[in-house]
Amino acid sequence: MNNPGHSGIGMTSARTRERLIKRLTSQGIKSLAVLDRIRNVPRHLFVDEALESRAYEDTALPIGHGQTISQPFVVARMTEALLRDGPLKKVLEVGTGCGYQTAVLAPLVGSIYSIERIKPLADRASVLLKEIGIRNVQFSHSDGWEGLPRFQPFDGIIVAAAPQEIPQLLLGQLAQGGRMVIPVGPSRNQDLVMLTRKGDTFEREVLDKVSFVPLLEGLKGTSKYP
Ligand code: SAH
Repeated sequence: MNNPGHSGIGMTSARTRERLIKRLTSQGIKSLAVLDRIRNVPRHLFVDEALESRAYEDTALPIGHGQTISQPFVVARMTEALLRDGPLKKVLEVGTGCGYQTAVLAPLVGSIYSIERIKPLADRASVLLKEIGIRNVQFSHSDGWEGLPRFQPFDGIIVAAAPQEIPQLLLGQLAQGGRMVIPVGPSRNQDLVMLTRKGDTFEREVLDKVSFVPLLEGLKGTSKYP
């Protein structure tokens, strides 16, 4: 991993990374593939330099534009749930943010289409993921409520921001047998839900209580959505 702008924390953080893995294991994360990704993705490159020393704590941290990098436990839980019934070819991610969740998931699936409404975040994630050698992701500056109809159907959909109601357009872009992991509900009281498509019905399972930023309407920076 090379990132000339950052200090040598990647080398010195092996012990803090192991501590994080132990914590996630004790909280019930079982997938070795997922734990291995959390161990190997350099989370310190995804946060501001001033926060690097906290990068391997199991907390959300600010990434600018009023957004946060997801908590490692939640990233692990969602990734594990998404992959529970076997490998997935094509995945839609809503809410790229800094791209940390994207980086954890990318080598475990065929390809990812990742949507973000704040352009500078999408641009930065795209550069960083290339720098750390991840090449199977297409970034899109667009509105997650609409999904990406051009590239449907998706075997998996993972949503990193919480709507009050499940977006119907996203459900319609799931392949048969495909599954979506999504936080749903008002701020600070959301259910992490997994939906699996069976014909035109969706099996629903609640995985956890979570706290995500809201899934907002439209693209940031357009006159309608400042
Ligand atoms: N996945 C990130 C965390 C993202 S935070 C990580 O691994 O750290 C949630 C992100 O969803 C924010 O960047 C926010 O801008 C984005 N978002 C919110 N509403 C959206 C929408 N309608 N379409 C696309 N992205 C959206």
